[in-house]
Amino acid sequence: MRIGIISDVHGNLEALQTVLADIDTKGVDGIISLGDIIGYGPDPVACVDLVAKRCKWSLMGNHDYAVMYEPTNFNKAAEDAAFWTREQFEAEAKRDRDGAIKRWEFLGKLRVRVAMGPFLCVHGSPRRPINEYIFPEDAEKSKMAQIFERVDKFCMVGHTHVPGVFTGDNEFYKPHEMNFVYEFNDQEKAIINPGSVGQPRDSDNRASYVILDMKVENVVTDENVKKEVITAERAHFYRLDYPIQPVVDKIHAIKELSDWLGDRLLEGR
Ligand code: ZN
Repeated sequence: MRIGIISDVHGNLEALQTVLADIDTKGVDGIISLGDIIGYGPDPVACVDLVAKRCKWSLMGNHDYAVMYEPTNFNKAAEDAAFWTREQFEAEAKRDRDGAIKRWEFLGKLRVRVAMGPFLCVHGSPRRPINEYIFPEDAEKSKMAQIFERVDKFCMVGHTHVPGVFTGDNEFYKPHEMNFVYEFNDQEKAIINPGSVGQPRDSDNRASYVILDMKVENVVTDENVKKEVITAERAHFYRLDYPIQPVVDKIHAIKELSDWLGDRLLEGR
């Protein structure tokens, strides 16, 4: 079974379309989203509609939460963007009532934690699923031990916009350090971050995503019960060029969105 993993689209439609088209060439059984579909970017409504159409499910990120409920610990640019984003949904609802009802239903059902085979999927971290960041520099801190305590085997997170793998022995590996493939094994807990589709922050401005390979076996237990066992095989990390400048231009043309939100896309930070 192959699953496309996307995260942190942040209203960047051009990046989302580029990533989905690439995933389509890889023959997946489904796509999932780790949250933050919106916030910062110029096309929040179109991104939510596309994720709702193409993904099996999406998680609740802190920016999705900010737009639907309230921003927590946001800086001025992020808060202004959240309120502008909310206005876009309200304006679209005036144009198309039925579409808006479906959209709010989708957004209202975003979950904070989803189990997928041997993976726990959260936007932020297993202990604070919406808001806690797990940064590469946290790998060697005691914080990581507490986080790994809450992971049975493997975990998927987004939120930092930095792709890579945290292992139970206090290491963090960037995708290129493992030749863009991480092989799972039962002896090692791991936390995977696919990076960000719409706002990468690892000084590489290309859209980032992961394809996950899992093995599905039907086994019969000693008690003669048929059971599906899913094991993780490997995670492939991908980066893609997408048309950044049109997105930057759109952001610069919207006065409620800080120019920095456009500039940072070009820099990948
Ligand atoms: Zn985010």
